[in-house]
Amino acid sequence: MPLIVQKFGGTSVGTPERIQHVATKIKKHVENGEQIVVVVSAMSGETNRLTELAKSMGELPPTPREFDVLLSTGEQVTIALLSMALHQIGIQARSYTGSQVHILTDSAHNKARILDIDDKNIRADLDLGKVVVVAGFQGIDEFNNITTLGRGGSDTTAVALAAALKADECQIYTDVDGVYTTDPRVVPQARRLERITFEEMLEMASLGSKVLQIRAVEFAGKYNVPLRVLSSFEEGEGTLISYDIDDKDKEMESALISGIAFNRDEAKVTITGVPDKPGIAYQILDCISDKNIEVDMIIQNISADGTTDLTFTVHRNDYEQSMKILNDASEKFGSKEVKGDNKIVKISLVGVGMRSHAGIASQMFKVFADEGINIAMISTSEIKISVVVEEKYLELGVRALHESFGLEQNYFK
Ligand code: ASP
Ligand code: MG
Repeated sequence: MPLIVQKFGGTSVGTPERIQHVATKIKKHVENGEQIVVVVSAMSGETNRLTELAKSMGELPPTPREFDVLLSTGEQVTIALLSMALHQIGIQARSYTGSQVHILTDSAHNKARILDIDDKNIRADLDLGKVVVVAGFQGIDEFNNITTLGRGGSDTTAVALAAALKADECQIYTDVDGVYTTDPRVVPQARRLERITFEEMLEMASLGSKVLQIRAVEFAGKYNVPLRVLSSFEEGEGTLISYDIDDKDKEMESALISGIAFNRDEAKVTITGVPDKPGIAYQILDCISDKNIEVDMIIQNISADGTTDLTFTVHRNDYEQSMKILNDASEKFGSKEVKGDNKIVKISLVGVGMRSHAGIASQMFKVFADEGINIAMISTSEIKISVVVEEKYLELGVRALHESFGLEQNYFK
């Protein structure tokens, strides 16, 4: 009997009617002879509502432990409601909170990591022919404190459960019907991918595609859990995320590029004329990481007259603080100038096919040249090329790339 873990996100369970709709979907799988474990998020908007409620108490930020007790209630509502909806259509079901399953996490409140899952209760219920409904996004630490996994954490719960239960597939139901070559709101011709590798999906997720939580993809890759993204509103095959092992995937290699990811929340800062000697980059970036600011791309120029320029990108929210840190460093290192720009975006091409093909970067740069788009920064890895450009060129750049690399065509049919 195949064992499937299905996760339904906030919009999929956003109203009582939608919860009932989810129940009918689950029923079909049960009637198909599948064993089903369901993971649900809180009803859409609920986690935000709880966050606002917490703020209204005036304790800022709220004590992480209490905040988790509060946030975890959102998912507890949906597991109970979905179980009731299942009963109502003749399906036996039992709900469990994270602590009832015993999803053991570390004690990092609001961003806890799953350490272990006890599958005893779940297995026993499955053996009795029941659907098991588990609250996503939450667990319990070794001291019995309720923990939560960070926003979007239900994806991770689902993948972790699938790994622990050695499920045949982990299906993530959401409001889109799969992973697209790029955001269809920017490129209407964007195409749903039938398959994508974990590596590519990880790049897409970390480069700005919001379909799946990054941690969930990492987890799935690590434990080799086939992951499928599908719509909870329409029928369809969705997108399968897996390793490239079978023949179908060999064909996939012929697709050089799987997708274009982009990120609007970028800013770049530059410190010019700092001494070109050991330890300077370290000292500057250390001040940045001390403030928990994440740095993405880093560029250091070739030195002229013993000094060099250091440029890096940060999240737009961290722009002001990064500028301040660089201004302080500028005095310390006798830098000539500190510059910044928070109207930039990052556009990335992603594809495992890049590994074995030369000329992708030059084709990409030519597309930008033809459109008169200036590239401010470039960074590459084996399977991606990212460029930073002015914000106003985002749509134009993404569309031009999508067309130039022929992404609207389906390689599989
Ligand atoms: N309800 C939580 C959130 O909105 C977890 C999730 O939906 O995955 O972030
Ligand atoms: Mg959510």
